[in-house]
Amino acid sequence: MQPAHYPVVVVGGGQAGLSMSYYLHQAGIDHVVFEKHSAMHVWHDRRWDSFCLVTPNWQCQLPGFDYAGAAPHGFMRKDELNEYLAAFKRAVAAPLREGVAVLRVAPLPGGGYGVSTAAGEFTADQVVVASGGYHLPVIPRLAERLAGDIVQLHSEEYRNAASLPAGGVLVVGTGQSGAQIAEDLHLAGRRVFLAVGKAPRCARFYRGKDVVDWLAEMRYYDMPVNAHPLREGVRDNTNHYVTGRDGGRDIDLRKFALEGMELYGVLSDADRENLYFKENLRENLDAADAVYNGINASIDNYIEKHAIDAGAPSVYMPVWEPAAERSRLNLREAGIGAIIWCIGFTADFSWLDAAVFNGRGQPQHVRGVTAQPGLYFLGLPWLHTWGSGRFSGVARDARYLAECIQSHREAATRVAAT
Ligand SMILES: Cc1cc2nc3c(=O)[nH]c(=O)nc-3n(C[C@H](O)[C@H](O)[C@H](O)COP(=O)(O)OP(=O)(O)OC[C@H]3O[C@@H](n4cnc5c(N)ncnc54)[C@H](O)[C@@H]3O)c2cc1C
Repeated sequence: MQPAHYPVVVVGGGQAGLSMSYYLHQAGIDHVVFEKHSAMHVWHDRRWDSFCLVTPNWQCQLPGFDYAGAAPHGFMRKDELNEYLAAFKRAVAAPLREGVAVLRVAPLPGGGYGVSTAAGEFTADQVVVASGGYHLPVIPRLAERLAGDIVQLHSEEYRNAASLPAGGVLVVGTGQSGAQIAEDLHLAGRRVFLAVGKAPRCARFYRGKDVVDWLAEMRYYDMPVNAHPLREGVRDNTNHYVTGRDGGRDIDLRKFALEGMELYGVLSDADRENLYFKENLRENLDAADAVYNGINASIDNYIEKHAIDAGAPSVYMPVWEPAAERSRLNLREAGIGAIIWCIGFTADFSWLDAAVFNGRGQPQHVRGVTAQPGLYFLGLPWLHTWGSGRFSGVARDARYLAECIQSHREAATRVAAT
């Protein structure tokens, strides 16, 4: 029996896959979206209970479905966000096959792609990989050396303080998830130990506006990756920590330290009961504050250049300094019963059998278009702009890919005709 054929197969039913479907539908291009769990499930299944958006609601700009609620400058909580996404899913009405994992995609000798799935074999003229970038939670192998009665979770498994054993909690990592989870535990009254990494931070509000609003006005979010000073290197950057909780505020780890949170540098080693840290807490706090002040200074320049009437400028001054670097923490003595690993994810494209990866195993593409005709990526951080892996930029990228897919079809039709 011949496998069923689709002009386009989309792998993944998150915001990227459904955005792709929206534009393919508009262009009248038949397609299917394979989603191994259920569409948008990550926002239900992989976020903690008090999760809320870090980006302001107005940046929810999914295709045909801009945020239209009463709080464009607010930050949707998990339940509100899931309602918004469920409504988007209904509006797109994509040809979704949920519960169907794509197991292998490989170019066929005569052109097009073979697509093996949990529901059988398919072929496609073109394939869009919209499977996200956060596949495998990173937990360092040194975790295996820790005593077995210490509960260990990855950030995507954390739900709330009450679900952890009593006692202190060590949070490792201060990207967006680590900083917000540490705050969540701190607000719940838990004794928190935090291994502070190299992540930068930014202000929530500055000179009368959300920093995101300023950066949007400064057209930062329109800057393509090839115009960024770091070029494609920016794709490896850790996100700035800040929160949208309770209407939005800064996350200042020094303030937490004043309130009793125990800060350490980067985790470097462990034995059964001890964790060892690099003596770089001061350096990491200073570096995060330097980025914070640097972003504010760029806003100051913009305000000055355009003679904008805004609030007074200010510079963040540290409210706390570490008295000394501490390089060892004994889990028993500190009463720590749980560790939450917040050191990110790695991508897993092992099912994609095509020569479209660079020397570091990362997808190689220009604006999502690979060197393999008819194979595309969508939804990855800085695929094209800052917003590509977020709610604000995925529509623009999906629209562009729909145009590329259409051009590819027209070229194929011309070749067939001649
Ligand atoms: C903790 C956290 C907080 C974030 N906060 C914000 C925020 O405040 N604002 C913002 O704009 N962005 C935020 N983001 C970033 C971004 O919006 C999300 O990562 C978003 O989920 C990316 O959407 P996506 O569709 O590209 O990928 P995903 O949502 O990961 O969707 C990919 C889908 O593909 C499916 N899939 C994977 N492999 C296969 C396969 N082989 N076969 C079939 N299906 C497959 C998965 O099941 C998944 O449903 C956050 C990300 C994280 C991790």
